[in-house]
Amino acid sequence: MSDKFSAQIIVLTLFIILGMVLAGCADAAVSPTSLPQTVTFTLPLTPTPTPQPTHTPTPTATVTPLPKTQLCSPLEGVALAELPQILSNPFQPPRPGYDDGHHGADFAYYRFKDRTGIAGLPIHSVMDGRVAAVSDLRLPYGYLIIIETPLEALPPQWLTQIQLPQAEPTVPPAPAMTCPEPPAIQYDSSRRSLYLLYAHMQESPGLQVGQTVKCGQPIGLVGTTGESVQEHLHLETRIGPSGIQFNESMGFYGSQRNDSEAGLYCLWRVSGLFQMMNPLDLLTIQP
Ligand SMILES: [Zn+2]
Repeated sequence: MSDKFSAQIIVLTLFIILGMVLAGCADAAVSPTSLPQTVTFTLPLTPTPTPQPTHTPTPTATVTPLPKTQLCSPLEGVALAELPQILSNPFQPPRPGYDDGHHGADFAYYRFKDRTGIAGLPIHSVMDGRVAAVSDLRLPYGYLIIIETPLEALPPQWLTQIQLPQAEPTVPPAPAMTCPEPPAIQYDSSRRSLYLLYAHMQESPGLQVGQTVKCGQPIGLVGTTGESVQEHLHLETRIGPSGIQFNESMGFYGSQRNDSEAGLYCLWRVSGLFQMMNPLDLLTIQP
C-alpha cells in the first residue's frame, strides 16, 4: 500500500515537473504576437541611416590602356597626303574565298621631287606596333614584314573615319586552290588588331617576330623581290584577332615553300580569319 502511494507521489511529481518544463518552453518559444511587435516597433523608432552614394570610381588598375599611336607615311620623303600621287596599282578586293584581285595598294615612282627611282627607299612603319611575321624570300611576297597594332591603340577619332570591316565567319578557300593545313597558331579572339604587311622588300628586315616598333621607324627598303617586275612597295591592311604571330615564312607559289608556309599564306589571304581593307582608307584619315 505504501508502495502504491509512493508511486502516485512520483507520478504526481513527474506531472508537476513536466508542467514546469512546458511552461518554460512556452516562454522561451516565440509567441505569435511577440515577433511582429518587436519588428514593427524597432524599425520606425531607430531608422537605419540611408547609405550615401560615395561616387568612388571602381578601381580598374589591372587594365592599362594602350598609348595611342600616330600615323606615319610608309615611305621616306613622301608625305601621307602625297601617297595617292604615287599609287601605281590600287586595291581591288577579291571574290570571297578566291585569291584574285589585288589585296593591297602598290606605291612606286620613277621620279618624285628631287629623287629618281624608288629602289632602296627606306620603308617606315605606319603605326606603333609589334612584329607579327617576318618572311624569307618566298613567292609571291618576297621579303616581307607584318606589323600588328591593336585597335585599342587607335585614336577614337580614327574609328569614326574608317569603315572597319566586320569579323565574318571563316570562308573556305576556293576548291581550285589547294591549301595545306596551317600550323597551329594562338590568338585572342576577344580583341581585334590591324595587321599591315609590307612586301617585296630589297632584303630581309633586321627585325624579329615579337619586337615592338614605333611609328616612322625604318623597317626595310623598297625592292622587287618575289613576284614583282619593278621596285615598289606593296602594302596590305587587314583586321584580325589580336596576338597572332607567324613563326615561319609565308609563301604559296614556287618550290621553296613547304606545306605549313603555304598554309599560313592561305590563312592570311583566303581563310576569312582576316578581313582586308583598302590601305588608302587608313593612310588618308585626318589624324
Ligand atoms: Zn601589290
